[in-house]
Amino acid sequence: MDTSPTDHRIRNVVVLGGGTAGWMTASYVAKAFQGTVNVTVLEAPAVPRIGVGEATVPNLHKAFFSFLGIEEDEWMRECNASFKMAVKFVNWRTEGEGEPVSRTHRGRPDHFYHTFGILPAHDQLPLSHYWFADRAAGRTDEQFDYACYREPAAMDAKLAPRDRDGNRWTNYAWHFDAQLVADFLCRFSVKSLGVTHVQDRFTEAVRDERGFVTALKTESGRVLEGDLFVDCSGFRGLLINQTMREPFLDMSDYLLCDSAVAAAVPHDDEAEGIEPYTSAIAMKSGWTWKIPMLGRFGSGYVFSSRFTDRDTASEDFCRLWGLDPDNTALNQISFRVGRNRRAWVKNVVSVGLASCFLEPLESTGIYFIYAAIFQLVKHFPDKRFDPVLAKRFNAEIETMFDDSRDFIQAHFKFAPRNDTPFWRENKNLVLDAGMQEKVDMYRAGMPVNMPVADESTYYGNFEAEFRNYWTNGSFYCIFSGLDLVPDHVYPTQALRPDAAAGAREVFAGIAAERDRLLETLPTAYEYLRGLHGK
Ligand code: FAD
Repeated sequence: MDTSPTDHRIRNVVVLGGGTAGWMTASYVAKAFQGTVNVTVLEAPAVPRIGVGEATVPNLHKAFFSFLGIEEDEWMRECNASFKMAVKFVNWRTEGEGEPVSRTHRGRPDHFYHTFGILPAHDQLPLSHYWFADRAAGRTDEQFDYACYREPAAMDAKLAPRDRDGNRWTNYAWHFDAQLVADFLCRFSVKSLGVTHVQDRFTEAVRDERGFVTALKTESGRVLEGDLFVDCSGFRGLLINQTMREPFLDMSDYLLCDSAVAAAVPHDDEAEGIEPYTSAIAMKSGWTWKIPMLGRFGSGYVFSSRFTDRDTASEDFCRLWGLDPDNTALNQISFRVGRNRRAWVKNVVSVGLASCFLEPLESTGIYFIYAAIFQLVKHFPDKRFDPVLAKRFNAEIETMFDDSRDFIQAHFKFAPRNDTPFWRENKNLVLDAGMQEKVDMYRAGMPVNMPVADESTYYGNFEAEFRNYWTNGSFYCIFSGLDLVPDHVYPTQALRPDAAAGAREVFAGIAAERDRLLETLPTAYEYLRGLHGK
């Protein structure tokens, strides 16, 4: 045991980069260690932020904003936020050009929702299993999401996830303007948490004989000394990759998309309403996100440069929304897919795009940021930098990333469409052993990744959610949505006919509640106008 009287506490944290990752890190660390740790953010105003990152997942408020003590409606107003109740996958089964409207598939619209929250269960078995037993026996032809959740019908009707009194009736996440989020957190961190904001360009890191960074030098001659440095410099990885020479593990053999063309598209909210969900629309060589906000929606075609070029992708994207390519500001983005071998090396920790990136199909980018900061605070070192802390942190980041990578890869692999070289190549992707095992369990009729918490506690316990992120409900939404169903019914079900009868009552309850909601809820447009005072 160390009995030395020396004070080993970390006193100065320097964050390189002022994008979403930089300001989320600065505010969270400053709040966690207010009064003991000084936080400085070095941001080069001339180096633009990535500027996208608009769809999130439900734990954002509890795990991040609530930790900072900021009310949901306050940050929603500051960041022009709207509601997201699911990701809607459009035309992932039928072949053809990119189209914003669902085509017809087996007599129904070609779309399905990946909703949030925990799938209801009956007699210790999730509803997915009763739905599949009914479907296998020909007793229902309803799609999984519409049968098991109240939300799809409300989303089709573009209703709000809160009632007229402002009470939330379901789990939801948010869409927002990522630039506004970084600006808001910058103001909040400087004013309320005493964070120092230095606007200057990083040029070089000073290191000691052990290779630890001791200071960052800037273009105008400043020297910013620190004990711990957080690299939030984006895809450049200025500290982690360039200074510390930590390799970035490229995972483009898991996921084929590596580019995007994006734009903000004006929208007539009054005439068309605001969709309370993110859409993921299948395209010939990738997919397009649609993220509705007041007055516009953010959109981007995520594509594989192996299967289409930038000009063709830009044309396809503009055709999708009826945009004039010569008069639309298109944001052209190339990205690296993968993660650093180690996110934390010596006294440099990478967060955000400097650490890892997965294409945004399941909106994991911002989640990865606050999950990493949560883990950083949990594993926060002192000046002795016990290597066990970094090792454990790195193991957590690796699991977090690889788990989501494998789940997203399965979306592409099992998509039935086969009409272009891109979709055909996706069929050749090789699943990681852990994911293959989950697919085997699913096919054998077993529940996959059953949640370790119930509906009331899942989003209240970040630790539990972090360890159990894609639960059985997610697997059923995606796999059944892609027409991949189990080979047979879970064997124990045949032995429990009473459970099946009880489950039918649960289904009836969901349908009744769905109808009541359809009658009473305000539209998302109405609600957001009121919230934003517009
Ligand atoms: P950046 O925004 O790139 O910020 C880097 C910062 O470093 C900037 O402030 C810059 O000024 C600074 N910097 C760089 N060089 C220097 C220097 N020399 N000196 C000083 N400062 C410097 N996430 C989601 O959750 N949902 C989504 O829907 C989503 N969609 C995405 C779509 C695409 C196509 C991409 C690429 C990403 C998406 N993401 C999404 C991820 C999300 O955008 C990022 O996770 C998030 O914006 C964090 O970015 P960042 O702060 O790490 O990097």
